[in-house]
Amino acid sequence: MTNSSNTQYFIDLETKYGAHNYKPLDVVIHRGEGVWVEDVEGKRYLDCLAAYSAVNQGHCHPKILQTMVEQAQKLTLTSRAFRNDQLGLFYEEVCKLTNSHKVLPMNSGAEAVETAIKVVRKWGYQVKGVPEDQAEIIVCANNFHGRTITIVGFSTAEGSRAGFGPFTPGFKIIPFGDAQALEDAITPNTVGFMVEPIQGEAGVIIPPAGYLKQARAICDQNNVVLILDEIQTGLGRTGKLLAEEHDGIEADLTLIGKALSGGFYPVSAVLSNTEVMDVLQPGDHGSTFGGNPLAAAVARTALKVLIEEGMIENAANLGAYFAEGLRQIKQPLIKEIRARGLFIGVEFFPEAGGARQYAKKLMARGLLCKETHQHTLRFAPPLVITKDEVDWALERIEQVLTTA
Ligand SMILES: *Cc1c(COP(=O)(O)O)cnc(C)c1O
Repeated sequence: MTNSSNTQYFIDLETKYGAHNYKPLDVVIHRGEGVWVEDVEGKRYLDCLAAYSAVNQGHCHPKILQTMVEQAQKLTLTSRAFRNDQLGLFYEEVCKLTNSHKVLPMNSGAEAVETAIKVVRKWGYQVKGVPEDQAEIIVCANNFHGRTITIVGFSTAEGSRAGFGPFTPGFKIIPFGDAQALEDAITPNTVGFMVEPIQGEAGVIIPPAGYLKQARAICDQNNVVLILDEIQTGLGRTGKLLAEEHDGIEADLTLIGKALSGGFYPVSAVLSNTEVMDVLQPGDHGSTFGGNPLAAAVARTALKVLIEEGMIENAANLGAYFAEGLRQIKQPLIKEIRARGLFIGVEFFPEAGGARQYAKKLMARGLLCKETHQHTLRFAPPLVITKDEVDWALERIEQVLTTA
């Protein structure tokens, strides 16, 4: 066997030279197309993780690829010291699509979160009149907003925080899905409430019906900025462009990332539908790569194909079909199945002994997914999946869950 088709060779390289901050399944992927990926030994898998929803448009979408290549041959980076001919078009298109007024482009999701934190704090001091350095932001238990020091500082996952203090002050943690807790936590110094419409990393946790509407009303009554982190739930995943549409609300700040580039490039953005963004002046905030022409061009096409190729409707229809199929599986160790669009969590009782064993068995049968929070399997394939492919997946999931 040559090295290039030897799975263990690549695993050994990673183990020897890489930081061990991940525990991946031992599959070494070398190409992908649509919902399918292939490993170095030529084995094919249906990807039911979709890079944590960054490849909603499917692997190596041909139109995004074409834009990527064409733009890369023309211009990749100017820095924001100069303008480029892609950024304004990206702004206009994303604003029209999401009904926003202003956009601030960044790269990773965590940077979008950090940006929102800076913006609401400044808004709090300049507009709301909060005394200097007293601004409070409310977040939810079991949140996942990224990995910077500030962000992990308000995580409730001990593994994310342990050993990394001291942390940034100014955050309050309340239970997720509890509108009364939000109301009780607000003080005159509260500037923002940041929440995921559905908690993804926590195991696809869907809040009680009406929760986001109540949160919207409470924020309005108390002059608090509502920040929705739609980095995972956004861009079609739940069967709507943004998950907030399920609740008929609009956030003041919406964070998007991941699928904003269809997996080609790190592109994130803070969308604003209020004057909140106007507190930023030249020099207040920035990023060398944020808003670069390659990112803007790729994001424009990534958004375009999401809409033009009906991926959002497909997520709604096949998500419901996928979840219904899962509910037919007779396995008493399944505690709950939670689904909205193609964002699906299957939670097992602790007696099952953790969800990772199932992820490994599914991998052996050609389906890639990953456990999240120990007892939950998340199924979130690219939104281009077909009914036949969902059936293919369901067959394998049923086999794995019903044979000892
Ligand atoms: C992935 C994710 C982030 C962080 O994005 P990165 O690009 O990994 O920094 C933030 N919030 C949510 C909800 C996410 O799923």
